[in-house]
Amino acid sequence: MRTPLIAGNWKMFKTLDEASSWADDIAKRVSDITRPEILVCPPCLYVHALAESLRGSPVRVGSQNVFWEDSGAFTGEVSAPMLASAGASHVIIGHSERRQYFGETDETVNKRLFAAIRGGLTPIVCVGETLDQREAGKTNTVIEAQIKNGLAGIDPGQAGLLVIAYEPVWAIGTGKTATPETAQGVHAFIRGLLRELFGQEVADRIRILYGGSVKGDNIDALMAKADIDGALVGGASLDAASFERIIRFKGK
Ligand code: PEP
Repeated sequence: MRTPLIAGNWKMFKTLDEASSWADDIAKRVSDITRPEILVCPPCLYVHALAESLRGSPVRVGSQNVFWEDSGAFTGEVSAPMLASAGASHVIIGHSERRQYFGETDETVNKRLFAAIRGGLTPIVCVGETLDQREAGKTNTVIEAQIKNGLAGIDPGQAGLLVIAYEPVWAIGTGKTATPETAQGVHAFIRGLLRELFGQEVADRIRILYGGSVKGDNIDALMAKADIDGALVGGASLDAASFERIIRFKGK
C-alpha cells in the first residue's frame, strides 16, 4: 500500500564535480526503476545542479535542512521557497547530527516542519535514541517525545504528506545496524503513535524509513519487515553502485 522510499543523505561530502559524476552514474543505473521512489539529499549548494541533471530520471533531489522563515535577514540560512525553486522536492528535518552539533530541538524541528509544508516540500522528520537512552530502557519515551513535540499542531491532512525516519543514533555511521526485529519494534511503536495523533487511515499512509548503517547486505532483511517502508542511507549512498544495490532491494 505504501510506496517504498530509498533516500540518500550525503551529509557534507563531495565536490561539485564528484556530485555531477555521481548523478550521471546513478541516472544510468536506475533508469528502468519505477518503484521504489528514489531521493538524494546532497549539500544544498548542489540541489539545483543535481535536480537539473537528474531531470527525467527517477531520482528526486532533497535538502538536508531548511530554515523556518521564508525570507529575511537570516545570514547563511536557506528557506523552503528557495529550495523548491531550485528543484528540491523533499527536506530532511531533525537529523541526529543536527540535534547533536547544531542545537536542533523538537521545537525547532516543529518550526522547520511547518516551513517545509508551507513551501510544498515533503518533510522527512528524523527521530532516534542514543545508546545511553536505549541502555536505560528509555527508547520509547524518547521517541514518543520527539514525535509528539516535533509534529505538534500538524493536522491529519498535513500529516499524510509526512515521512518519518527512525535512526537510532548508535547505528548512524558506526557500522552497527539495528536488527530487523529491533527496528520493526520501534517502527510499529511509531505507527501506533501516529495512529493516536492522526487516526488509522493517515497512520497507514505515512512512510517510516529506517536509517543507520544501511548497506547492500542488510537492506533486504530490513525491508522484509511490515512497518519498514524504506531507508535513509548515509555512507552507502555516496557510491552509486552501492546505492543502486540498496534501491534494488529484494521483497515488498
Ligand atoms: C544518515 O546519515 O542518516 C545515516 C543513517 O548514515 P549511515 O547510513 O552512514 O549510518
